Amino acid sequence: SRKPLVAGNWKMNFDHIEATYFVQKLAWILRDAHFSYRNCEVMLMPPFTSIRSVQVLIESDRLKLSYGAQYVSVTNQGAFTGDVSADMLAALGCSYVLVGHSERRKYHPEDDANIVDQVRAVLAAGMKPILCVGESFEERRQGIELEYAVGQVHDVTRDLSDQQASELVIAYEPVWAIGSGMVATPQIAQQAASAIRSHLRSEYDDNVADRVRILYGGSVNPSNASELMASGRDIDGFLVGGAALDAEQFATIARLT
Ligand code: 13P
Repeated sequence: SRKPLVAGNWKMNFDHIEATYFVQKLAWILRDAHFSYRNCEVMLMPPFTSIRSVQVLIESDRLKLSYGAQYVSVTNQGAFTGDVSADMLAALGCSYVLVGHSERRKYHPEDDANIVDQVRAVLAAGMKPILCVGESFEERRQGIELEYAVGQVHDVTRDLSDQQASELVIAYEPVWAIGSGMVATPQIAQQAASAIRSHLRSEYDDNVADRVRILYGGSVNPSNASELMASGRDIDGFLVGGAALDAEQFATIARLT
C-alpha cells in the first residue's frame, strides 16, 4: 500500500531565517505527544536559498521530515547562469523535485519537452519527481478536464520505462483551485486521481499504477483535508501552498491525512 505524502510548496516564501523558525515550530508541534499523525510522510519544498538551512536543522535534530526543491535545470553543469542542477539538489539531501507546476508553466514557459527532461534529470540524480498536472477553468467549462489532465500525464510519461514511471508522484492541481479558496469537491478530486491511475494501468501495468502516489493540490486547508482523503482510494495526500506557510495548519493537514 502507498504511504501518504503531505508536501508543502512554499513557493517564493521564507528566507533561510524564516525557514529555520518554521521547521523548529513544525517539529515541535509534530512531536507533541497529544498530536498523533498517521503513517504519512511530511515534506517541505523551500526556495533554493533556504534548502541548506532546512537540511542542517533536519539532520542535526534527526527530524522525520523530507524536503525537496521546486524546480531543477535540465542540464547537469556548465555555463547555464542562474540554473541549479539535480546533482546539486541531491547533494543537499533533497528527495523530491516539483516538476511542471502551473506557475512555472505560466511564468517561465516550460513546455512538455522541458518537463520531460526535468523528470529525467531528477530520476537520474536518484530523486523523485512530483509532476504537476491539472486543467484550467476553461477546460472544465468545456467538459474536457479529465482528458486534459490525463493528456498532460501522458505527454510527459510516455517514453519513461516502467521502473522510471513507478518512481513518480503525480499532483493533480486544477489551476482554478490554486490560491483561489475554491477547493475541488472530493468527487472532482477523486475522479481525476482515478482517471490518472487508470491511465497508468493501461499504459504501464498494475505495479506502476499501484505504486505511484497521486496528490491533490489547490486550496487544501485543515477544514477540507479529511473529506478529500475520504473521497476514495486514489488520493494519497496533498500538495499544499498557502496553508503550508502556517505550521499549525500544515501539521493539522498532516494529522488528517
Ligand atoms: P494553494 O494551497 O495556496 O492553493 O496552492 C496550491 C499549490 O499550488 C501547491 O503547489
